[in-house]
Amino acid sequence: MKSLRLTPSRAGRSLLGMRYHLVTLGCAKNTADSRRLERALRLARHAPVATPEAAELVIVNTCGFIDAAKDESLAVVRELDAARTPGQQLYVIGCLTAIADDAVRAAVPGVDATFGVEAWDAIAASLPPADATYDLPAAAQSAAWQLGQLSAYLKLSDGCDRPCTFCIIPTIKGRMHSEPAERLLREARWLADSGARELVLVAQDSTAYGEDAAGADGLASLLEQLAEGVPDVPWLRLMYAYPGRVTRRLAETMARLSNVVPYLDMPLQHGSDAVLRRMKRPSLRVSRQSIETVRAALPDVALRTTFIVGFPGETEAEFAELLAFVEAERFDHVGVFTYSPQAGTPAATAGEQVTAEVAAERYARLMELAQEVSLARNRALVGRELDVLVESEAPARAADGGPVVVGRTYRDAPEVDGLAFVRGTFAPGALVRARVDGALAYDLLCSPAGAPPVVELEVVGSRRGARKLRRRAATRGQ
Ligand code: SF4
Repeated sequence: MKSLRLTPSRAGRSLLGMRYHLVTLGCAKNTADSRRLERALRLARHAPVATPEAAELVIVNTCGFIDAAKDESLAVVRELDAARTPGQQLYVIGCLTAIADDAVRAAVPGVDATFGVEAWDAIAASLPPADATYDLPAAAQSAAWQLGQLSAYLKLSDGCDRPCTFCIIPTIKGRMHSEPAERLLREARWLADSGARELVLVAQDSTAYGEDAAGADGLASLLEQLAEGVPDVPWLRLMYAYPGRVTRRLAETMARLSNVVPYLDMPLQHGSDAVLRRMKRPSLRVSRQSIETVRAALPDVALRTTFIVGFPGETEAEFAELLAFVEAERFDHVGVFTYSPQAGTPAATAGEQVTAEVAAERYARLMELAQEVSLARNRALVGRELDVLVESEAPARAADGGPVVVGRTYRDAPEVDGLAFVRGTFAPGALVRARVDGALAYDLLCSPAGAPPVVELEVVGSRRGARKLRRRAATRGQ
């Protein structure tokens, strides 16, 4: 991202507002919130800078979802507080301050201001105004707005009305409230004009969209409007569906719209009815029905889900039911979390807590199974042609020294799923038709359709690349 040059006015006052640096922690929803804040700040003519040292104001958008995330947020705030430059202000905002403002202020007494969630306009209003008479040059303005993101999150709603006994989100975010469709369409258009080639639709529960008055026509209707409103964005991707709310209409709408990818993230949390009851989550029967509905309408769908292991009272037999469920349903992507008690939630004080050792051991067993399934599903793709959205050069080259790019197929969401390595040189943002030559547990090795196959990749220098290619070595020949 380019930073703006600050030009003193004739009166010696900054024509732009404050130079700010924004640090975002936590989930995709928080990333979307930060973008809303950035928009409010830039409309008020405050200018982003790339490093905290260059900023007059440092803002930390925190996560308060689980204890580890709270600790990380506090550690980052402490670190930035210790490194403050003279006169620099420090704001702490987001989920952690929404539920533990006193704790943040006690831990870091020098913080200048704290705000909860969705406080974008209040934060912008708390800053000294910029010179409103200055006409920001169009080029500078477009540089300021240009996020240069190929994949961007679009947050459909916030808050949640579900009763999951382990989750603090409803306390932090309150009741579910949908963004009006017109606002989402404007934001989608703006992201498309800023270079987005993929919009990732997120919410606490995306399938609840429209249950309040703001999005009265529901998610299927919103998808239709988005698909029509940004036909130049080739991939619209739906995350965080709730089992039982994936209707036939929704699945068939996804199948009909060519720029909605056949991908769905539906967190299921467990595979034992007894545990699901204690979690106050939909039953296994409901989960299976939703999976069937999606697979019937979208035969090529890539299904992602997440599970919690070590939930209070989880017995070995209940965990075995979860393993059997994963084995049977053959999910393309599985995320696994070990349960972490959250003060203020019913589960934190209910039942016998599973020891950390047992939870870690179950985590490892479930991950191993999920990887086996994922590898088998990736191997079934060998020989098929898929579009790959190119993201960057890869930290690898082909055995003949040729270049390789890295991207993703529709089957992989950014940040959480796998990658596709494609031999050749292609610009970021290009959609390349590629043939799958090899499969790893998470990643695919590809060649442009019609080209000779990739037979070997060598690491050029990145640890991340090295890690991924080591995985490849471990699975070669299978
Ligand atoms: S649906 Fe998700 S956000 Fe809502 S309470 Fe359950 S786990 Fe929390």
